[in-house]
Amino acid sequence: SRINQSGVEALREFPNFPIGGILFKDIAPMLAGRGALGEVVSTVASQVSGTEIDAILAVDARGFILGASLADRLGCGFIMVRKPGKLPGDVLSFEYSCEYCSGTLEVTAGLIGDGLRCLIADDLLATGGTARATGNFVKSQGGEIAGYAFILEIEVLKGRRQLDDAPVISAMTC
Ligand code: IMP
Repeated sequence: SRINQSGVEALREFPNFPIGGILFKDIAPMLAGRGALGEVVSTVASQVSGTEIDAILAVDARGFILGASLADRLGCGFIMVRKPGKLPGDVLSFEYSCEYCSGTLEVTAGLIGDGLRCLIADDLLATGGTARATGNFVKSQGGEIAGYAFILEIEVLKGRRQLDDAPVISAMTC
């Protein structure tokens, strides 16, 4: 993909970050480019045009970048999936594991009603563990998965194989 404005190196790779054996892809320099986020959002928005979406469900914290921008662009709702201890009041929680982490995620109770069509957004698709767990949570609440959207997909990790229940959209692949 050519989402790389103003000559900033598009993607950087950091071996053994945040733990040994992981080749971390850093989207920060790409996003620093003028117009880059808008281009990411336009790319994803064009691929979901015609899809009925009630809310974007975005994963703390880098998922908020695409998630909130896309919710604004589409005029749909925005629901935060947060790391533990951040949300007040009644929360629902679920377990997840990612390429280099695992833990619990939380959502404010009562936001995902029956039949709510949710697009799950995150910065990056690696193994698909995070998005799969979030999708399963949506279904457990009676919601529907309208799709999965990412800024960047690491194709070699084949995460999209786990996300076979809805369209998977990534603005960039590597
Ligand atoms: P997955 O669950 O294995 O698909 O990993 C995706 C989640 O872990 C996302 O929430 C990302 O923020 C994070 N992640 C995994 N690998 C990377 C990486 O190489 N760069 C940045 N974030 C990553």
